[in-house]
Amino acid sequence: MNQDFIYRKFRDYYSRVEVKAPSQIEQREFGVGKDKKIDSRHLMFKSQDKLNFYLRSAVPFYISYSAAYYEFPDARPMPNKHWLGSDLVFDLDTTDLDLSCDHPHDMVCKKCMRQITIECSRLVNQFLRKDFGFKKDKMRVVFSGNRGFHVHVFDDEVFDLSQEARREIVDYITAEGLKVTRRGEGKQVLGPKVGSSGWGGRIALVLQDSIENSANAKEFVRKTGIGMSRTISKIFKNKQNSLEALSTGVWSKAQLTEENWDGLVLEVARKLRVNLDRNVTADMARLMRLPGSLHGGTGLVACEIKDVRSFDAFSDPVVFGDETVATIGKKDMQFTLKGKDFEIEKEHKINLPEYAAVYAACKDLVNIIE
Ligand SMILES: [Zn+2]
Repeated sequence: MNQDFIYRKFRDYYSRVEVKAPSQIEQREFGVGKDKKIDSRHLMFKSQDKLNFYLRSAVPFYISYSAAYYEFPDARPMPNKHWLGSDLVFDLDTTDLDLSCDHPHDMVCKKCMRQITIECSRLVNQFLRKDFGFKKDKMRVVFSGNRGFHVHVFDDEVFDLSQEARREIVDYITAEGLKVTRRGEGKQVLGPKVGSSGWGGRIALVLQDSIENSANAKEFVRKTGIGMSRTISKIFKNKQNSLEALSTGVWSKAQLTEENWDGLVLEVARKLRVNLDRNVTADMARLMRLPGSLHGGTGLVACEIKDVRSFDAFSDPVVFGDETVATIGKKDMQFTLKGKDFEIEKEHKINLPEYAAVYAACKDLVNIIE
């Protein structure tokens, strides 16, 4: 019953909207799914019309397209497609975060979304724009339709990057293998300072800011979550010298050993890195959710986002109406959509507005009664 209901609602959606084709659609491979995210792949569509005709007639529950461009996107096996290039893509999902939420893994709450939004804007602003210099109009942020975001960079600069190069980029962003380098010894040990490029400057700035704005070591630990109390109390014993070390790059001005510095720097890096799915970026044949399409696990639309900070993942991607739908709960669960809280109870009848019924049916929280 749920499958039929979801199918009908998805068909209604695809018959009233025109999904925009990705750029160079004729060079992209598509994958679709009903039970799984991808049941079949190696599909191609020559035009936006053909793509929309397919969506209206086949009504897939999931549809994704390749970050890659191919000469023959529908050829198989993969080498016969003749790879031409790929967008650079990043996948941010709440399941990659280390959060202490008590809801099940496949659900998402405001706290999860807030944290993944912070990660996403850090990726875009601090790394892709600031460190790599990609222009805003060469990037697209897409809500995945469920628990996170996809970031696509479609600059000529990234088009033919090798897998190794993509892996290096993701290593940099996730601070994988980050090493502390310093020059000199004894009284003149030099390290990165505020204003240095890349990771060094970023870490120095955050340390300076956190030290300046904390009255004592205890406050610093509370604000930053960095629990290296011995090192931190050394810093606050001589706060002015520590700040000078960070602004001048003469690390030996602070009363810290090299081990203290190393530990502190790596700990700050752990706080500032972006938590993302490392494999997605390195996978040259990855299929990514098509913006404008529905996510079969939620019934929410995967949509391009102009301003990630003002995006509301519990309202903005809702595309269904308010008409009442009778359902019976399959488990006890709460969720919030369009500013309303819904509480499902196992084996209890509940009338839901259509948009919440679609969501609950996709999440398998209810049975639709018809
Ligand atoms: Zn959560």
